Formats: sequence, C-alpha cells, structure tokens
Amino acid sequence: TSYGFRQVDEQEKQGLVNEVFHKVAKRYDIMNDVMSAGLHRVWKDAMVAALNPRKDPNYKILDVAGGTGDIAFRIVEASNRLAHATVLDINGSMLGVGAERAEKKGLSPNLTFVEANAESLPFEDKSFDAYTIAFGIRNVPHIDVALSEAFRVLKRGGRLLVLEFSEVEMPLLDKVYDAWSFNAIPRFGKMITGDAEPYQYLVESIRKFPNQPDFARMIERAGFANVRYTNYTGGIAALHSGWKI
Ligand code: SAM
Repeated sequence: TSYGFRQVDEQEKQGLVNEVFHKVAKRYDIMNDVMSAGLHRVWKDAMVAALNPRKDPNYKILDVAGGTGDIAFRIVEASNRLAHATVLDINGSMLGVGAERAEKKGLSPNLTFVEANAESLPFEDKSFDAYTIAFGIRNVPHIDVALSEAFRVLKRGGRLLVLEFSEVEMPLLDKVYDAWSFNAIPRFGKMITGDAEPYQYLVESIRKFPNQPDFARMIERAGFANVRYTNYTGGIAALHSGWKI
C-alpha cells in the first residue's frame, strides 16, 4: 500500500525515528495522551499486570526503547519499589526526560538509564528476569536481531513482553482508527513540532509491522517458548508474551 509516502531504507528509518523522538522528548508524554486518547495508560497498566513483577530486590527488568520511563516506573511501583529496572533507549533526549521524572518520583534508586541500540545490547548473557518493550520494536530496523538480543540477555525462566500497535480486528473500529491515524496524528505532530513527515512515517510503520500471528512466529524463531498474544482495544494494540525456558 502507498499513502503518498515515499519508501525509506533502513538507515534512513533509524534516522527519521531518532529525529521524531529528539524533537518530541519534552512533550512526549502529553503527545501520547493526545494521540492515543489516553488509552496508552490502560494498555501499559495491563502489560505490567501481565508481568506481575516479583516483589524482590533481586528481580531485574530491562525495558528497551524505554523512552521517558513510563513502563519501568510502573513496573517498579508494582514491585512495591523493590525491583530494579534498566531503561534502555537509543535516544539521549528521551532518557534525559525520563531521568528527571524518576528523580521527581523518588524512583531513581531503582532505575538505571542506558543509551544503546536494541540491536546490540551492552549486557552479558542471562542478565535479566524480564525484558519489556512498549511501542518501540516497530521502530527498530532489524526486529529479528532485537529479538535474539532479548533472548540472549534473559535468564532461563525469563519473560519477554512486547506491547505494540497491531492489526485492528474489529470491522468499524478499523475505519475510525485509519481516519484518526492518517489525518489526526500527522496534524498534531505538525502542530507540536512544526513537521508532519516524521509522524506520517510513524503511522506508516504501524501499517508495515507484522500482524499478531506473524509477529508471534518471529518471537518463536528467536527461541522463545509458549508464545501468546492478547489484543487490547480490538487489536489497536497487542501484547505478545514469550518465555526463555
Ligand atoms: N516505551 C516508551 C513508552 O511506551 O512510552 C517509549 C516508546 S516511544 C514510542 C519509542 C522509543 O523507541 C523512542 O524513545 C525511541 O528513541 C526508541 N528507539 C527507536 N529505535 C531504537 C533502537 N534501535 N534501540 C533502542 N531504542 C530505540
């Protein structure tokens, strides 16, 4: 499909993604509320409930493409502030906002911020009990590489959770959603940052991302077992889960 948007190669892809998040870092959390009509909060809470983090200081989570820390904060809170989360992102501006927010919330002792690429994680094998990534994996140029890295850094018995926009499986909702994402999102993007193109690119990347069963198979191919998924809001988002056994 073409929506009047030009094709981009993989290097350009990472460049565009980086441009979007550098520009929006300070306004990212407000943008999320506007663009998802607040739903991202519900989906993120559901993801953390599915993880059900151990209330244990030895429990270590890696939140990749963690941006401003939303998922990691929720996980640490859900562990009664016992667990430790590493927030990894390729974008220093997003992490900067996250570190500031963590300080204000008094969560800094439970968090580490690391600037790195999901395709090449700077950690030893078997370092983490859980790997989470929310609305990030579709931005990574080589998804298969990111998934094998996830497998490598997880301990045996470790859990992978991926929250991502997915294929809408409700007849009317898909029309509303298309109208919203192709018109409203680039327009809001332009209003807030002065440039619509990077947002068109982000919307396009949602369309290109594999659907629920295809993505489940990619996770299996990376070595994960018991791969399952749950749709949220008719499939606007889906949570995929897998285990390293
Ligand atoms: N997880 C956060 C949330 O749900 O609010 C942030 C999601 S934000 C939509 C996507 C994030 O992915 C951005 O912060 C971006 O910098 C990051 N990202 C994009 N490509 C990446 C890569 N190759 N490695 C690590 N992070 C990446």
